[in-house]
Amino acid sequence: MKSCSVCGKRAVYFQRHSNRHLCRKHFIYDFEKRVKYAVKKYGMIQKNDRIAIALSGGKDSTALTFVLKKLYGKRRDLEFFAITVDEGIAGYRPPTVEIAKKVTEMLEIPHYIISFKEEFGMDLDEMVKIGNKKPCSYCGVFRKYLLNRTARELNATKLATGHNLDDETQTILLNFMQGDIERLARLIPQRVQENLVVRIKPFREIYEKEVMLYCILNGIEVDMNECPYSRFPVRAVIRDFLYEFENRYPGRKFSVMRSFEALQDCFKANFPQKDLNRCEICGEPTPKQICQACVLRKELGIL
Ligand code: SF4
Ligand SMILES: [Zn+2]
Ligand SMILES: [Zn+2]
Repeated sequence: MKSCSVCGKRAVYFQRHSNRHLCRKHFIYDFEKRVKYAVKKYGMIQKNDRIAIALSGGKDSTALTFVLKKLYGKRRDLEFFAITVDEGIAGYRPPTVEIAKKVTEMLEIPHYIISFKEEFGMDLDEMVKIGNKKPCSYCGVFRKYLLNRTARELNATKLATGHNLDDETQTILLNFMQGDIERLARLIPQRVQENLVVRIKPFREIYEKEVMLYCILNGIEVDMNECPYSRFPVRAVIRDFLYEFENRYPGRKFSVMRSFEALQDCFKANFPQKDLNRCEICGEPTPKQICQACVLRKELGIL
């Protein structure tokens, strides 16, 4: 391994997009600096915020909890707590829930665990058996629903998620290549709407592999298991394409992000954010009359 481009000590990482070798200290410094930069650039954290962290216990959300506490934990005007949603995926979720418990205990952050089973009377494994939708359709809708509702009930002003640069650029390209520009427009930071807690993504400028290295260098426990339902054929194609492209032309994931940002005003003008209604059944915010969670619950016979 070469020496650090900043201090000359032994490097642990070659940052291809900046063409720099970084030692442990300067990798961590650079990582945290870019998190702070993104937080500032997008105005993610404001005075007196009470921030709910969506903590699954996977590497991204665990690293996020760690870094938010490290960078902003001393600010007296801010409060942090974590919410873990246990979807009920046998063999996969239990170990990460344990990691979530450990990390919140270590960082002294209040931690709330909610489960599909308790909230809907059925876990994801059971839903998949009786429903005709893909597992991720149930999982995504119900998880978002519970995170928003719980964060709001606990008076959060922001809901932080661990989405990184790889996740974001995959979603941008995926929607673009599927011609779903309306969905693409929804990725733009939203204006505040009643009952909907504003989402923030402090890792949106950080590569996934850098999150992994940050965990390793800080001794953050990482669970390497993959969800047994994670078969997104189209997303996997986009992920592999982006990986190959980035490999040949370092920094291109940032280019995707910048291109998307340059088009934001155009998206906003063509697809203005809809005013949300309250679901006629559960009262949660929805662009329709009945929210998607209630539609799915009806379909599953649990409403
Ligand atoms: S891969 Fe699908 S089912 Fe598994 S945790 Fe992610 S969204 Fe849920
Ligand atoms: Zn160094
Ligand atoms: Zn509803």
